[in-house]
Amino acid sequence: MNTPTTLYIDGVWQAAAAGGTREIRCPADRSLVAEVSEAAAADTERAIAAARRAFDVGPWRGTTAPERGELLHRVADLLAERAEEFALAESRDTGKRLVESRIDIDDCVACFRWFAKLAGVDAGRVVDAGSADVVSRVVHEPVGVCGLISPWNYPLLQTVWKVAPCLAAGNTFVLKPSELTPHTSMLLMGVLTDAGVPAGVANLVLGAGPEAGAPLSTHADVDLVSFTGGLVTGRIIAAGAAATVKKVALELGGKNPNVVFADVAVTDEAFDAAVDNALNAAFVHSGQVCSAGARLVVEESIHDRFVDELVRRAELIRLGGPFDERAETGPLISAAHRDKVTAYVEQAVSDGAVLRCGGRWGEGDLEQGYYYLPTVLDGVRRGSAAVIDEAFGPVVTVETFRTEDEAVEIANDTVYGLAGAVWSQDAGKAQRVANRLRHGTIWINDYHPYLPQAEWGGYGQSGFGRELGLAGLGEYQESKHVYQNL
Ligand code: NAD
Repeated sequence: MNTPTTLYIDGVWQAAAAGGTREIRCPADRSLVAEVSEAAAADTERAIAAARRAFDVGPWRGTTAPERGELLHRVADLLAERAEEFALAESRDTGKRLVESRIDIDDCVACFRWFAKLAGVDAGRVVDAGSADVVSRVVHEPVGVCGLISPWNYPLLQTVWKVAPCLAAGNTFVLKPSELTPHTSMLLMGVLTDAGVPAGVANLVLGAGPEAGAPLSTHADVDLVSFTGGLVTGRIIAAGAAATVKKVALELGGKNPNVVFADVAVTDEAFDAAVDNALNAAFVHSGQVCSAGARLVVEESIHDRFVDELVRRAELIRLGGPFDERAETGPLISAAHRDKVTAYVEQAVSDGAVLRCGGRWGEGDLEQGYYYLPTVLDGVRRGSAAVIDEAFGPVVTVETFRTEDEAVEIANDTVYGLAGAVWSQDAGKAQRVANRLRHGTIWINDYHPYLPQAEWGGYGQSGFGRELGLAGLGEYQESKHVYQNL
C-alpha cells in the first residue's frame, strides 16, 4: 500500500516524514474507513514553520479585513455545495447519524458566513483623547500563528469555530483534529485552497495529541493555542503554553444541570415537552456532547412521575448506525471510550446510585459497534463521582430539590460551568434562576440550540476564552493603541 499523503503543509499534501500511519474505523461497525498519515512532532514543527513564513512574509499579511470576509463567503459557498460529501465523511468517522452530520455541516456554513460578515465590519475604533492635538485610535491586528486543536465529537464544527475567526482576523494556523476523526478536516483544506487561501496559511497535521499536537502548545513560533477537548488535556495544554506565554483559549468539558421545576406538570403538554427535552439533552449523539444535560435536577414533588416517564421513553430509544434512518442515536466513538463509560456507571452503582435503565452494551446487530444503551441513574449522592465526573456518554443522573435556592445550589455545585437549562412555566422564576447559574450558556424551556452570533464558552474549569459571537473574533486579535501627538 502507498503511504497516504494526508498531511497538508505549505500547500502540499504529504506523508509523515517518518512514514507513520493510522487506520480510521467507523465506530458503528468497525469497518475500515481509510488509512491516514500519523504525524510526529517533527511534522508539526514543519507545519509551524510554514505557517510562520506565511504570516511573516507571504501575501496573506497584505489582505484587508473585507477581502478576508469575501474569501470566507467563498469558503461557505464551496462548503455548502459539497455539504453531502462532508456529512458522509463525518458520519463514517464518528458513527453519527447522517441527519445529524448534515445539520453540523450546515452549521459550519453558517459559522463561516457569520465571521465573513464580522470580518467586514470589525475595524477598531477612534478614541476621544480629550485634546484636538491628539489622534488616538485602537486597531485590531492578527495574533500570528495559531495552533488549533479539536476533538472528535463534532469534528468539523468544533474545528470551524476556530478556523473561521482565525482566518477572518488574518492569522495563519496549524490544525490538529482528533486522531479518530480526520476526514472532514482534510476535505476542509481542499475547500480553503479552492476558495483562495494562500499556501502556508492553512496547515493540517494528523496524529496523536502528545506527539503531533504537543508542539502547538509548546513551540515558541506559535502565538496562540485554541483547544477544545477534555479537562485533563486542557491542563496539559495550558501548562505547555506557559513557558512561551502564548495566548490560550480552552473549551473543555461540562457536567451540565437540567433544572426542572414542578410547575411543568401544570399541563400535560408542558410536562411532555420537558421530558422530551430531558431525553434530547442527555442522549443526543449518545451523550457525547460537551453541553449534554447529564444532570437532571428535578423538583422533588414531580420526581416519580417525571423519572418514570423519562425511563419509559429512554428504553424506547432506537440505536443504530449512521445510515439507519430509523435510528435515534448512534454508537460511542471507540472501544476505549465505551470502557470508560462502562466503568463510570459501575462506579456510580457501587456508590449507591439506582440503575433505572441501560447500564449495558448494545446487543445483537449492535455488537458490531460500540453501542451503550441510554442509562438513567437515580438517587445519586451529592459529591459522588457520578455527579462530579463527565461520563461523556448516554448517561443521565437524577438529583432532587425542594426550593429555588436549593435548585441553584445543586446546579452550581460543579467544577465545570459550560451550560445548563431551566424548565418552568413561571417566566420570572426561570429568569431569576438563569441569572444565578454559573454556566456559559443557559437555556430556558429548551436545550442545545446555539447561535453563531452568541458567545459560547465555559465558566470555571470548563475553560476560558469564548468562541462564536463578537468575542470569538476577538480571541484571534491583538488590540493596538496608536496615539499621535499632532
Ligand atoms: P481530548 O482532550 O482527549 O482530545 C482533544 C484533542 O486534543 C485531540 O485532538 C487530541 O489528539 C488532542 N490532544 C491530546 N493530548 C494532547 C497534548 N498533550 N497536546 C496537544 N493536543 C493533545 O478530548 P476528546 O476526547 O477528543 O473530546 C472530548 C472532550 O472534549 C470532552 O471532555 C468534551 O466535553 C470536550 N468538548 C468541549 C467542547 C466545548 O465547547 N467546551 C466541545 C466539544 C468537546
